[in-house]
Amino acid sequence: MNWRIDVALQTPAHSALGDVLSYKNATPLVAGTLVRVPLGRREVLGVAWASSDITGDGDGAEAGSGTPELKPIAAVLDGLAPLGEAWRDLVAFAARYYQRSLGEIALAALPPQLRDLSTVQLARRLKRPAVKAANAADGQRDAALPLTAEQADALARFEAEPGPFLLFGSTGSGKTEVYLHAVAALLAREPQAQALVMVPEINLTPQLEARFGSRFGADAVVSLHSGMTNPQRLASWLSAHGGAARIVLGTRMAVFASMPSLRLIVVDEEHDPSYKQQEGARYSARDLALWRGRREGAKVMLGSATPSLESWHRSRPAEGEDKGGSDLRLAMPSRVGAVALPAVRLVDMNLQPPKTVLSAALLDAIGQRIARGEQSMVFLNRRGYAPVLACGDCGWKSECPHCSAFRVFHKIDRTLRCHHCGFTERVPRACPSCGNPDIAPVGRGTERLEEQLGALFDAVRRPDGSPVRIARIDADSTRKQGALESQLASVHAGEVDVLVGTQMIAKGHDFRRITLVAAVNADGALFSSDFRAPERLFALLMQSAGRAGRDAAYLAAQGSSAEMWIQTHHPQHPLFAALKRHDYPAFAGGELQERAAAGMPPFAFQALLRADARTQEAAQAFLNAASAAADALPGAEMVTRYPAVPLSIQRVANVERAQMLVESRSRAALQRWLAAWQPLLHAMRREPEGKGVIRWLVDVDPQSI
Ligand code: ADP
Ligand code: ZN
Ligand code: ZN
Repeated sequence: MNWRIDVALQTPAHSALGDVLSYKNATPLVAGTLVRVPLGRREVLGVAWASSDITGDGDGAEAGSGTPELKPIAAVLDGLAPLGEAWRDLVAFAARYYQRSLGEIALAALPPQLRDLSTVQLARRLKRPAVKAANAADGQRDAALPLTAEQADALARFEAEPGPFLLFGSTGSGKTEVYLHAVAALLAREPQAQALVMVPEINLTPQLEARFGSRFGADAVVSLHSGMTNPQRLASWLSAHGGAARIVLGTRMAVFASMPSLRLIVVDEEHDPSYKQQEGARYSARDLALWRGRREGAKVMLGSATPSLESWHRSRPAEGEDKGGSDLRLAMPSRVGAVALPAVRLVDMNLQPPKTVLSAALLDAIGQRIARGEQSMVFLNRRGYAPVLACGDCGWKSECPHCSAFRVFHKIDRTLRCHHCGFTERVPRACPSCGNPDIAPVGRGTERLEEQLGALFDAVRRPDGSPVRIARIDADSTRKQGALESQLASVHAGEVDVLVGTQMIAKGHDFRRITLVAAVNADGALFSSDFRAPERLFALLMQSAGRAGRDAAYLAAQGSSAEMWIQTHHPQHPLFAALKRHDYPAFAGGELQERAAAGMPPFAFQALLRADARTQEAAQAFLNAASAAADALPGAEMVTRYPAVPLSIQRVANVERAQMLVESRSRAALQRWLAAWQPLLHAMRREPEGKGVIRWLVDVDPQSI
């Protein structure tokens, strides 16, 4: 037992233990080897990070050297190739950058089953014949489509330059086809090469999987996302790690996939907020993809019709004046088949009769589409029947007793549900406060909209004389395994005339027969306190519009054209002017000017310190003490600290939440400062200021403020 092995482990959060613990072993271990080691009374999975010869040190305590006795490594999982240096570097970088422990990131990046299987079980699992390396040239495949001129241009630039690239392509411009071609060229050129393709939502993976599978053969493609079972995830992971999977498709977690021959990373819909993990280690998979690409010499292509302002700012046009951005912008402004982007129609809700939910003009337009057999999509970003249930007599409202939020009325199962803490009760028969039996829903969610549309179109007939079919897709309708796939399939099969849903249906899907999209209540985001709200809203509306009129041949056959309807009380808002022209660059230019003037991202870098406590005072006291303690840190003059404030939803599940924003013009200065701050925060937790604090966390590059 002459070797000390430092092992990265998942230790309890905020524990006093380091995240790399030392064990002993008879032989050194290659860095990246998976091991099982004792931790407390358990035996856990770890990753060997370094080995050093301790022959001369004596063997721990018996030798009287003062070093505590090291425990031996329990088992070495030598059936599995060690995790490579590039992977370990990625993990170490992510831990450093997002202020988390190395062990936490390393272990979270491995499939759960790898952690849970005993050594014997794992050995048995690994003995199963490995999937043979897939040859992307075998078998019956879909042929690649001949590229449009814009696609061919983009691809030629992609092949000729090192990148990174921002594929700025309109909705329906055929970005996926560009990814497919880029992957095909890579696999044809390099027999070992692997590609990673990321999408923001699990529900986008099946369609993508089908497209990649039919192009490259199902054996060459594996998926990695949280909707898979643990055995499926392990199988995909092993296949990527062993090199058999040439293409890995996945959600943000896939950025940590072990891929020894990674040469290409695609981040589709790169603007999407779900690339940012919102709990635990709050990493941005898009930003890590860029880092990983640079580290491993893999080309990175970000794609979007509405890039994040960060990515837009970082990119330079492919032609003309070089504005100095590091990423090359590849523009594909036209839709495939030269079909026009939808005409945007604003309905001024100030001119409608009071309490109008759906304007007559919009209903008429949807009615006409139904009569022609076309599909419409009505989009409302709020699920449930009504956001509040209220008593008109005494003013009682369906507040959640545990949160500073209302419970949402779900009519289907007659419940009041808190969307923050999950607290659910049957709807009371009468007002709990005054006994009035007439409690009424206030406002509207997708359930109520679906019901209302059903009533409104009751008399309208489809071309064959049959009644209208209305469907709803949201987090409630898709809870069951496979429900979303089957609901989407019925939309694709033309079994639905009007689809109601939340933003789930606004993103990415390649619907072929939808010709009208309507956003019925989007105003909320216009005046949000979050400076990213306009950017989000613009992207969401443009993406929603992007679901309409995607099939040139269908539109021509129908003699129809695509429309995007927006009901708003603020038709003069400049955001809508840019949206009407589908002019993302104009919108982005205006926003960037404001951000620059106000010194906000991407012109500054931010982090949030958040504290959760039993009382708001305790949470804020912790943050303010943390701020005061940081005065003496070197480089403090480079970092602006704002006062502690409550979160917009201040209390969730009886926990009070507060946050403090820190900001710097220099990313490096902020990083140095955060690293120096971290030990102070850990120490403070044990001081009087830490009393009553349940947890705290640092969110680097936060996406919502
Ligand atoms: P985006 O991701 O840019 O919104 P997609 O990649 O989904 O667009 O492409 C939109 C549609 O156009 C898809 O149905 C796709 O099959 C089709 N398409 C893409 N490229 C071509 C092409 N070169 N020729 C014919 N059809 C294409
Ligand atoms: Zn009442
Ligand atoms: Zn609640």
